[in-house]
Amino acid sequence: MKEAFDVAIVGAGPAGISAACVLADAGIKTIVLERGEYPGAKNVSGGVLYGHDLARIIPDYVERNCPIERNIVESRIWYLSRDAGYSLGYRDSIFATDRKHNAFTVSRAKFDRWYAEQARQKGALVVPGTVVVDLLRSERGDVTGVLTGREDGEVRAKVTLLADGINSPLAALTGFRSEPKPEEVALAVKEVIELPAEVIEQRFGVSSGDGVTTEVLGAIAGGMDSVGIIYTNRSSISLGLGANLADFADYKLKPYELLEAFKEHPMVAPLIADGRPLEYVAHWLTEGGYDAIPELYGDGYLIAGDSAMLFNGLHREGNNLAMASGKMAAETIIEALSRNDVSRTGLAGYGKKLADSYILKDLKKYRKLGGFFYHHKELFDQLPRLATSAGREMITVNGVSKKEKQKIISRNFRRGMPVLKLLRLLWQGWRAVK
Ligand SMILES: Cc1cc2nc3c(=O)[nH]c(=O)nc-3n(C[C@H](O)[C@H](O)[C@H](O)COP(=O)(O)OP(=O)(O)OC[C@H]3O[C@@H](n4cnc5c(N)ncnc54)[C@H](O)[C@@H]3O)c2cc1C
Repeated sequence: MKEAFDVAIVGAGPAGISAACVLADAGIKTIVLERGEYPGAKNVSGGVLYGHDLARIIPDYVERNCPIERNIVESRIWYLSRDAGYSLGYRDSIFATDRKHNAFTVSRAKFDRWYAEQARQKGALVVPGTVVVDLLRSERGDVTGVLTGREDGEVRAKVTLLADGINSPLAALTGFRSEPKPEEVALAVKEVIELPAEVIEQRFGVSSGDGVTTEVLGAIAGGMDSVGIIYTNRSSISLGLGANLADFADYKLKPYELLEAFKEHPMVAPLIADGRPLEYVAHWLTEGGYDAIPELYGDGYLIAGDSAMLFNGLHREGNNLAMASGKMAAETIIEALSRNDVSRTGLAGYGKKLADSYILKDLKKYRKLGGFFYHHKELFDQLPRLATSAGREMITVNGVSKKEKQKIISRNFRRGMPVLKLLRLLWQGWRAVK
């Protein structure tokens, strides 16, 4: 391609398209290169999006027919053993009224297409079916554009934004980010199961258009450091499971078999009964947290979203971090272009913007959490077993006094996990999130 651009963006996910919208709004000549046949074709997500960050880019996204599946009114957390479990939920009518669209589910295949169309309408050029295979550099080593797999595939640009997600080898290939270590990445598998909308509403106890998210912890993946999700879409349920890649290698378990076992869990099976599987996908998920974040900018380039390892696993926030970082990258580029300085120094504002924002503050706060889960496998096997046996004992009415039941429970706990170990676990868990 002979034409030169102000900005070349690699990837039409939430990070890349958010940047493209902001840049196009400012009249910056922008091209977005996407390897998928269309934006969203390659994208996997459990599907929760957050109105706050989207509204900062497209304030009237609802009126512009953003493809919302369901507005989330309740968030549940489950802690499961292999055949039982605890459930804690928070429902609030404010999320159906004043704070509607605080969180909502989307199908990424539909959302990414819609979002890319908004960027196009603002004036960005979005080119799907184009793989970026390398970066172009000046003699000094500054990035001066990208090389695509197409014939005549050079695209020259003053600034390049890498928004190519966790899966792309590009950042590693170009040396901007090392290949993520197995313990910094989770392998996630997801299945979408079709069910009539009324059946979903009845099973989850919600009104038409409303939905529920469920995050699942405990013994759901053969004792590996793992998390599951169950999200309601309009007429389907997204069900997924992610576990640490290093654990997959050590435990020699197969993701597909784990997902099948998860679907058969007594708390899960009734929710998806008689559903029809629509799609099954596997994807990486960044888990490395604050310490895995690479250098975020340099001479002529910046990195945003998953490619920059920006993912808050505890709060299941990735799409919003991608959007917010894409927006900050774009704002930095606009300032740098106006000063005619796209060097590392000229783009340094990006690092400051991120550091001052909730993104890096949150990731810093939870920087020890990934390691805590990874090194305490008892949270995914022993503890859920003990916890649910305690629940079972207390709920069973069998003529045994409650005092005696308490003794049985504490005896079981002492046998299964020494008190000191439990206290240490609680203390370290607290320190990892405080
Ligand atoms: C199973 C699962 C469930 C998740 N659930 C949630 C959730 O509920 N809520 C949430 O907020 N986050 C969730 N996430 C995380 C969320 O999906 C990511 O944080 C988010 O997609 C990051 O956006 P991004 O734009 O940085 O990257 P991506 O969405 O990965 O987009 C990158 C884009 O770049 C393209 N690309 C890559 N390489 C190249 C190349 N060389 N040339 C051209 N194009 C390229 C890709 O095709 C893709 O379209 C989930 C992730 C997974 C895997």
